[in-house]
Amino acid sequence: MKTILRGGFVVSGRSCKRADVLIDGEKIEKVGHVLKDAPWDSKVVDVSDCYLFPGFIDAHTHFDLDVCNTTTADDFESGTRAAIRGGTTSVIDFACPNKGETLAHGLKLWHEKADGKCWCDYGFHMTIDDWNESIERELDDMFAAGITSFKMYLTYPAMMLPDETIYRALKALKARGGICGFHCENAGVIDARIAELKAAGHGAEVSSHPLARPDYLEAEAVHRVLRIAQAADAPVIIVHTTNRAALAEIEAARKRGQTVYAETCPQYLLLDDSVYYDPDWSLAARFVCAPPIRTQDDAAALWHALKRGSVQTVSTDHCSFTLAQKDMGREDFTRIPGGLPGVETRGELIYTAGVAQHRISLADMCRALSENPAKLYGLYPRKGALAEGSDADIVVYDPNADHVLRGAELASKAGYTPFEGFKTSGSIRSVYLHGALAVDRGTLVGEKAGQYLAREKCML
Ligand code: MN
Repeated sequence: MKTILRGGFVVSGRSCKRADVLIDGEKIEKVGHVLKDAPWDSKVVDVSDCYLFPGFIDAHTHFDLDVCNTTTADDFESGTRAAIRGGTTSVIDFACPNKGETLAHGLKLWHEKADGKCWCDYGFHMTIDDWNESIERELDDMFAAGITSFKMYLTYPAMMLPDETIYRALKALKARGGICGFHCENAGVIDARIAELKAAGHGAEVSSHPLARPDYLEAEAVHRVLRIAQAADAPVIIVHTTNRAALAEIEAARKRGQTVYAETCPQYLLLDDSVYYDPDWSLAARFVCAPPIRTQDDAAALWHALKRGSVQTVSTDHCSFTLAQKDMGREDFTRIPGGLPGVETRGELIYTAGVAQHRISLADMCRALSENPAKLYGLYPRKGALAEGSDADIVVYDPNADHVLRGAELASKAGYTPFEGFKTSGSIRSVYLHGALAVDRGTLVGEKAGQYLAREKCML
């Protein structure tokens, strides 16, 4: 039986138009005036006055990750359950082999973590935290397995790479049409500042976290990566961009003619660094992530960058820990596991603070959450568009159903949200995955139908 979503406004990266959507099986058959083409027994769903977005794509999640001497609260089951409740029908998680292991081992491990457990579709980026001839040869296997995007770190001893390796790896990726995201922070100076803060007796204060990792040490690392990319003549993605100074580096590189994509996250758009100064230690610790949340001025710069297309994607960097896990850092702020839950709330946050506040348009939101990640990560037009032949992954957004975010009501096993008490403008009414109703007014009604996404090369 076919399904007609009738009376809504279909959002694309260019426009928002009233149109009906005809779903046949897992695919969209037609968008527009569909009634005359639809069989008499089609199921008609009234979505009057709702916005229909292509299913959101979250290209930055960390599920079931062993990190900071613990394991993230969300595995692929609870993580993708949270994702689809929030309108995210595809996630791209970071497979992460340890130094000394093969990429094939990392990929196998991530398939074991994810296969059969996902409520939404899923793909993997591959983390490169080691480099030698055999890893370089493995790149071809990765592309054959549908892994076309990679990640390197300029910080964290377990993962960081020296400049020479970054240069060599970027050239190898460029030769194969691959693209690489970078976590940019200056590791050495941050370590020295941590030691200074501890020596001065500030080791138990959450506010030491942003003091150790200022915006300009992120901007320095962004600059360094971009100059290495210039030497390698390779495109790069700056992930979780947080501040004005880093944005200036990105835009300067583009002016030189480089191809640079930028991602940011809701926490950097909606929050500011006052969260780290809450007198309640536990309330402050729940916001610890790296890079840290910056100032209101930085957030304003990010919104403007999103509006003018200088930032292409909004992902979440979902890396969730319970408050009990955050408590591991009571005596030492560097032992607070870094990361926030976010995969479930991104759509409503960006609609509320972005579209409803007139910072960005519906089309801008569609580009940042659906169309651009689909193009950047080789999923377009199967994903990222409501068009004939695309997967029928659809978010039905009711702009009039305001509600209040409560951590206790979310699916994430973190048990809290950084946006507790946030009043939304509208809410996600329903979500379709492969043409099947997956979420209806917050309730999961489908099954674990998530499929592995073998991805094409970047097409943005
Ligand atoms: Mn991350």
